[in-house]
Amino acid sequence: MDLKEIMEMDSRYYMNTFGQRTPVCFEYGQGICLYSSDGRKYYDFLGGIAVNALGHAHPALVEAVCSQARKLIHCSSLYYIESQARLAKMLAEVSCADRVFFCNSGAEANEGAMKLARIYFKKKGMPEKYGIITLRDSFHGRTLATVAATGQEKYQKPYEPLMPGFRHVQKNDIEALKAAIDDTTCAVMMELVQGESGVHPLDRDYVQAVRRLCEEKGLLLIIDEIQTGMGRTGKLFAYEHYGVEPDIFTLAKALAGGVPIGALCAKESVARAFEPGDHGSTFGGNPLACSAGLAVLRTMLDEKLPENAEKMGSYFMGELKRLSETHGIISGVRGLGLMIGIQLAQDKAVEVKNRLFGRGFLVGSVGTSVIRLLPPLIINKDDIDIFVRALGDVLASL
Ligand SMILES: *Cc1c(COP(=O)(O)O)cnc(C)c1O
Repeated sequence: MDLKEIMEMDSRYYMNTFGQRTPVCFEYGQGICLYSSDGRKYYDFLGGIAVNALGHAHPALVEAVCSQARKLIHCSSLYYIESQARLAKMLAEVSCADRVFFCNSGAEANEGAMKLARIYFKKKGMPEKYGIITLRDSFHGRTLATVAATGQEKYQKPYEPLMPGFRHVQKNDIEALKAAIDDTTCAVMMELVQGESGVHPLDRDYVQAVRRLCEEKGLLLIIDEIQTGMGRTGKLFAYEHYGVEPDIFTLAKALAGGVPIGALCAKESVARAFEPGDHGSTFGGNPLACSAGLAVLRTMLDEKLPENAEKMGSYFMGELKRLSETHGIISGVRGLGLMIGIQLAQDKAVEVKNRLFGRGFLVGSVGTSVIRLLPPLIINKDDIDIFVRALGDVLASL
């Protein structure tokens, strides 16, 4: 099928939640590049929105998925699953968590985190504690509870009335958080770098103050590491940058390199609240997804990808800041590791994105003035140089 036929079929049969998509259909990928059905090559600086951490067609991931698919894709968690146990053990060993539960997406992991927080207090004899405080401009997913948690009106308005029990406060304002806590509050949930709203890292002092405040008030701290986790920010988990440990954190996106998976990770004292029958999932933790996750995590550690993300991220941001000296339209560059936002002084993000696409580069945009970069963690300096040159040309052509 050619692209035009695919577009026609999509517009006739697929629910129109994505509107006018970028007009391309990819056939295969290799490393940091994608190749379209009409034979063009694209440098992927969006990485499937922080999913393709190993790039495309990484041999370790391909081998793990193919050999597991040949043996057993699914069997139900009513039975023991070796790769599920191994991936849980490995995640517990490399993080502050003691126990893990697998599901199928980020939103579902956050749902699990919020359920765990509620049941933790119920079982402590404090059923009145169910409220969760999150930040404005946050993003926690698209299900009804995670939409209520998300601090952005555009995701909430169409689905009112919202699930009760959520309050949103301004980020980096500890007094606002203090003021929002009451006897019903059970947890604070936050991303450490807000991705979907334009790549905003939280202040280190603020995050440490939040951790202390949760301790003082007996609240659980839930960190949404769905986008920031798995090496993206230059550490395996973003909380390592901040010198804090969450009681619960969630993973998804890069965890299995594109095979759907989510993970809910918690300290033993909290995880214990889930007892037989309290939570579950049909697909979650299946042999295919867990084998993929094991291959991703092993490769990340073997190839030192978090370190590469740290090095390449600071090189990338340095080059972008240099570019901003000659191109006044760049008013700021922010981020952590390979999670980077380029702030434009004019509402030209979509135009810049489209012109980069025309030159064979994929990037994201947030709103009208932020370009968002989430390249595979295997990226090298040459790739970055090629991109920065193309971006310079695009900005000069505006
Ligand atoms: C992507 C994302 C989610 C939602 O993940 P899905 O897999 O799309 O449900 C939640 N939180 C953050 C921080 C994300 O970046």
